[in-house]
Amino acid sequence: MIFIEPHIHMYSRTTDDYQAMHKAGIRACVEPSFWLGSHRRYAGTFFDYFQLICEFEASRAERFGIDHFAAVAYNPKEAENTPLVDEVLAGMGPYLDHPRCVALGEIGFNKINDAEAYAFRRQLEMARERDKLVIIHISHTDKVRCIEQMLPIIEEVGHDQRKIYLDHNTEDTIGLALQHTDCWCGLTVYPISKLDPSRVSAIVHEHGPERIIVSGSADWGISDPLSLPKVIAAMRQDGHDQATLEALAFGHPNAFYSQCPAWQPRLDLEPWPIELRQP
Ligand SMILES: [Zn+2]
Repeated sequence: MIFIEPHIHMYSRTTDDYQAMHKAGIRACVEPSFWLGSHRRYAGTFFDYFQLICEFEASRAERFGIDHFAAVAYNPKEAENTPLVDEVLAGMGPYLDHPRCVALGEIGFNKINDAEAYAFRRQLEMARERDKLVIIHISHTDKVRCIEQMLPIIEEVGHDQRKIYLDHNTEDTIGLALQHTDCWCGLTVYPISKLDPSRVSAIVHEHGPERIIVSGSADWGISDPLSLPKVIAAMRQDGHDQATLEALAFGHPNAFYSQCPAWQPRLDLEPWPIELRQP
């Protein structure tokens, strides 16, 4: 089975992870911009990072047979520094136009406050003006309040909701997200905290697979770049049909990202041979 991992932060992962991902059948992935472990003080630090995930990370992944794309944005966790938000957004255009950038993201809320709402709205507007796909991050806590604050902003900005991937839903928000938007709705699976494969399976049994995207969202924390294949294996055991499994493994992330012309994943890449050093 071939997988597309639609949300993963390979910047924080090792080459072992790329090897394991290829072995598990992952052939393409998307890396949204995220928090780097400390708050950035300079706009240039963002720009260098955007360039790194669009270029170096793509070439690193290619060595291991995986086609890597990126999404560029000012992330919610640093959004309280409004002057820096303005400075970064003023210079972000060329990175959004990069041939490996398939979306603007991830944007959204962390603490759910006015400064974050400002950065969120401005970037949604940028995405609408550029007709760019968007990846939205629902806060880790207080998710229902987060989505209730987001939905009116999404409505007001008026970007095509089929071009929005609203990620990090749980049982508490998925019904709300599916019923009140036309967005693709993400479920993120972690080894600890967040959702596990059995909860994803139950959500899909209850709501159906339509417009659902599953990701591992692996990053610096305890996380798993093989979450998506593990979820599909668990769902197979749990009685989901083949069409559902293929939709979540490949069809849905491919349908979402295919709305961006830059998304032309090469699924036939092979890992480069590893030449062992002679003794
Ligand atoms: Zn993320």
